Amino acid sequence: MTSTVAQPQQDATTQSVTAQTVTAQTVTAQTATTHTVTNQPPPLTPYDASEDAALLEGLRREGAGWAEADLRRLGLRAGSEQAQEWGDLANRHEPVLRTHDRYGHRVDEVDFHPAWHHLMEVAVTEGLAGAPWADDRPGAHVARTAGGLVWGHAEAGHGCPTSMTYAAVPALRRTPELAEVYEPLLTSREYDPGLRIPAEKRGLLAGMGMTEKQGGSDVRTNTTTATPTAEPGVYTLRGHKWFTSAPMCDVFLVLAQAPEGLSCFLVPRVLPDGTRNAFRIQRLKEKLGNRSNASSEPEFDGTVAWLVGPEGQGVKTIIEMVNCTRLDCVMASATLMRKTLVEAGHHARHRGAFGARLLDQPLMRNVLADLALESEAATTLTLRLAGAADRAVRGDAGERALRRIATAVGKYWVTKRGPAFTAEALECLGGNGYVEESGMPRHYREAPLLSIWEGSGNVNALDVLRALGREPAVAEALFDELDLARGADARLDAAVTRLKDGLAEASPVGARRLVEHMALALQASLLVRFAPPAVADAFCATRLGGDWGHSFGTLPDSADLDAILERALPGGG
Ligand SMILES: Cc1cc2nc3c(=O)[nH]c(=O)nc-3n(C[C@H](O)[C@H](O)[C@H](O)COP(=O)(O)OP(=O)(O)OC[C@H]3O[C@@H](n4cnc5c(N)ncnc54)[C@H](O)[C@@H]3O)c2cc1C
Repeated sequence: MTSTVAQPQQDATTQSVTAQTVTAQTVTAQTATTHTVTNQPPPLTPYDASEDAALLEGLRREGAGWAEADLRRLGLRAGSEQAQEWGDLANRHEPVLRTHDRYGHRVDEVDFHPAWHHLMEVAVTEGLAGAPWADDRPGAHVARTAGGLVWGHAEAGHGCPTSMTYAAVPALRRTPELAEVYEPLLTSREYDPGLRIPAEKRGLLAGMGMTEKQGGSDVRTNTTTATPTAEPGVYTLRGHKWFTSAPMCDVFLVLAQAPEGLSCFLVPRVLPDGTRNAFRIQRLKEKLGNRSNASSEPEFDGTVAWLVGPEGQGVKTIIEMVNCTRLDCVMASATLMRKTLVEAGHHARHRGAFGARLLDQPLMRNVLADLALESEAATTLTLRLAGAADRAVRGDAGERALRRIATAVGKYWVTKRGPAFTAEALECLGGNGYVEESGMPRHYREAPLLSIWEGSGNVNALDVLRALGREPAVAEALFDELDLARGADARLDAAVTRLKDGLAEASPVGARRLVEHMALALQASLLVRFAPPAVADAFCATRLGGDWGHSFGTLPDSADLDAILERALPGGG
């Protein structure tokens, strides 16, 4: 009956319906006939997520121009209706923990919506997990980072296991016997989900377990113990982790206290004989965002673990992993910025208010242009960091030193800008941006996570001080990089001079201030060298010259909004 009355053309039937049988659905259908829907933007999808001048220029500049065709293909895929729908579905249908099977056996598995597996399959086959470590081409790590910058337009949460898989490889290399077995599988481009004997799978995923209840930043307080067995290199773990994301991964790098101190271990979910290792998942976290991804609380009791790196050098070993995941945090923040800017630009192009398109309203142009500057600075820095990582792993000492300091600087600043950026971009859509269907709330909720994990803001800022104190080469590498732009912009020159003066007085209480200045100088130097003059000039005027307010959309009159917007949003979004 309801479906009959919902079709207005069947008048005779409709008139026979009594008032009592009119349903809510009927009312909705009738209401919809009261007006014609206008002034709502068409769907953005399909679009090309790689259509970004800063991205493509950075890709070529950092030595991965050979990957451009693949990147363009992935960009179209990321902006397709299908991929965007996967992103939506994977977050609406959150992973579910299944502790036992129907017969009562402990299984500790996590079930995901099929959309999650589709996203993972694309990411792994496109080389966004461990693949660059098996690729000798210079620029392979840059190509992966650029791939993340476009594929992240589809969904952010699944970037967690792909990032950890990528990052586990250099840490695992500290024990060559383990790397020999597992590296070819961690670098595989085959997505092979399901808990089975790792060495028999076509591809593996890796996670990491550092954080415990009593402390995450200060892992020295870890209480999980590692007891040596009679077999060399084999231990059993007892204890817990408070956060361990992506618990369906095949192997985990885990920190635990061995007789010689905090050490790093490889923990497989399934042992070589096919039995399940003890990895009891107590709960999944109920999180602000990052809903597609599972973050768990596992307990270890008699859990078999293989030592990675020397006993007592757990932090030194796992820091190899953290260096890589920190770069991915910068990349993921830059991706959220670009994605939400594209959404905001599209809306402004198609929505009118007070007699003009939003895109033509002067103040909206200021907001979008300011966001565009921030987005380009984030993307350009991300690719420079990826270039440094790529050259560092190939033995370039100067790039290794730059990577050491600039990754922590970038992680601090770019991720810190993410929440403010996504909030502003969301607001460009007005009330529509506050509604889940727009996707903007999901991006907004994701943004703060990137400045929490892999070293929260203070921890990263203090890590910059630590690097400066312990390794004189890192300050030299940073200033060598900044000097490449010397003389091109007086505001940048002055900022670099201030920075050099400030280094002498570096202290924990001023660490954020110092690192913020470093990040802005680094971003400005890259834009001065590589971006169009309108972009570089507006960035230096505002972020270095003080000609700026406290919110986005406060660029001065001197800013060339037309040039900035035409570059960031060709055709207006
Ligand atoms: C969704 C999600 C997934 C995660 N997944 C994983 C995972 O897979 N594996 C894993 O090991 N961990 C994971 N984590 C944990 C994450 O890495 C930690 O939460 C993070 O490192 C901070 O540690 P903490 O929570 O113990 O906070 P704390 O270390 O207690 O820090 C609290 C605050 O104090 C600040 N602080 C710390 N030390 C200092 C200091 N010396 N001076 C000034 N300020 C300081 C920090 O910056 C922070 O703001 C995840 C977290 C989240 C939210």
